[in-house]
Amino acid sequence: AKAERRGTFRFFEPEMNARIQARRTLERELREALNTGALELFYQPLLNLRENRINACEALLRWRHPERGFVSPAEFIPIAEETGLIAPIGEWVLREACREAATWPGEIKVAVNLSPVQFRQQSLVPAVVSALANAGLDPSRLELEITESVLLADSDANLAVLHRLRNLGVRIAMDDFGTGYSSLSYLRTFPFDKIKIDQSFVRELGVNRHCAAIVRAVAGLGADLGITTVAEGVETAAQRDHLQHEGCDEMQGYLFSRPLPVADLRQLIAATEQA
Ligand code: C2E
Ligand code: CA
Ligand code: CA
Ligand code: CA
Repeated sequence: AKAERRGTFRFFEPEMNARIQARRTLERELREALNTGALELFYQPLLNLRENRINACEALLRWRHPERGFVSPAEFIPIAEETGLIAPIGEWVLREACREAATWPGEIKVAVNLSPVQFRQQSLVPAVVSALANAGLDPSRLELEITESVLLADSDANLAVLHRLRNLGVRIAMDDFGTGYSSLSYLRTFPFDKIKIDQSFVRELGVNRHCAAIVRAVAGLGADLGITTVAEGVETAAQRDHLQHEGCDEMQGYLFSRPLPVADLRQLIAATEQA
């Protein structure tokens, strides 16, 4: 049995080396991408369900890879986090998103995703301050999206950073709400401005009656606590109607718009005529 196990290990070794090699290549290319402008932000609107207006746009990273086309953030963010590249990338995202938002009508906010790893960097709060100042953007127009993992690890230190950010006048949103172990208890820990109901609940609206009950409960909770609720991943008119009925404040998803390059987003904003 022992020999067998050793054999198994040897069998996987080349495959593992190949994987490590591929990761190193990706890391080198990602570093290059940051320096050569191959990273780009797309923006996806969050629509107010009652007034049919764009309330905010979420910045979503895209990497235009020379050979592989667009590489998904789901693939390269984890590598950026492991290698520390997330710090310069995250600061670039903040600067870029604030600058872009400053060109939009004043009532449209910009949402930026923060990795839990960014909370370990002393530079996070100063980076937010300088991104706002350089763009001349009012802090109230910036929403920072975090997941529960920020409050899970190093929670005391991270909580202090979150308070410092919120004291700047920036809004804090809890992303992927309902997917973690203790989503509810975090609402008690920190005064979030917004809850984003994870798309897994939205997807099964009308299919799984538990999802409808959960969405209704979260929308009610948000209303009682004075927290804006957003449904993510809204793809059908039936889902939208359902969310509207349950009292959700905002929706985001392919039904209204996919994430768009800046030029297309500006066109959409102009066409939606917010004035
Ligand atoms: P997320 O923050 O939960 O973003 C929502 C994801 O759902 C985005 O995927 C978006 O394109 C996708 N989506 C939006 N509407 C729909 C829909 O109707 N149906 C479906 N099936 N999907 C929809 P994306 O752009 O691939 O981003 C994936 C994740 O990568 C994000 O999840 C976020 O966690 C991370 N990410 C993206 N940009 C950044 C960034 O600048 N910084 C950090 N730290 N993370 C980022
Ligand atoms: Ca997000
Ligand atoms: Ca999300
Ligand atoms: Ca997510």
